Amino acid sequence: MNGKRYSRQRELIYAALKGTDQHPTAEMIYQWLKPENPNLSLGTVYRNLNLLADEGAIARMAFPVERYDAETRPHPHFCCQACGSVYDLSLPYDKALDEQALLASGHDVTGHELIFYGTCAKCKDVH
Ligand SMILES: [Zn+2]
Ligand SMILES: [Zn+2]
Repeated sequence: MNGKRYSRQRELIYAALKGTDQHPTAEMIYQWLKPENPNLSLGTVYRNLNLLADEGAIARMAFPVERYDAETRPHPHFCCQACGSVYDLSLPYDKALDEQALLASGHDVTGHELIFYGTCAKCKDVH
């Protein structure tokens, strides 16, 4: 059985995600871990990220490319159109927006994701 090895890799991947605020793609996590873990494959990273996301331990977000977040509580994001970085925004979750969506549609609304786009502070400084 390879269960031990797989759960060790899952912990490694989870720790990498916990230790960053970059909202990485699977590819980014793979590149970070590969030097110290030569046996790791990109497929393994994808598989474990999807398992963690299915368990609710991490969040999976569909940006231009799929990204992952160790912070599972709902929070808004900013996506830089110049460098592709994704940042957390410290704005309160807007429950009123869920109510407006319910009123506008009659659908049962369980939540929403908010993504802002533009040029991040770092990229802005370059120009
Ligand atoms: Zn940027
Ligand atoms: Zn986030």
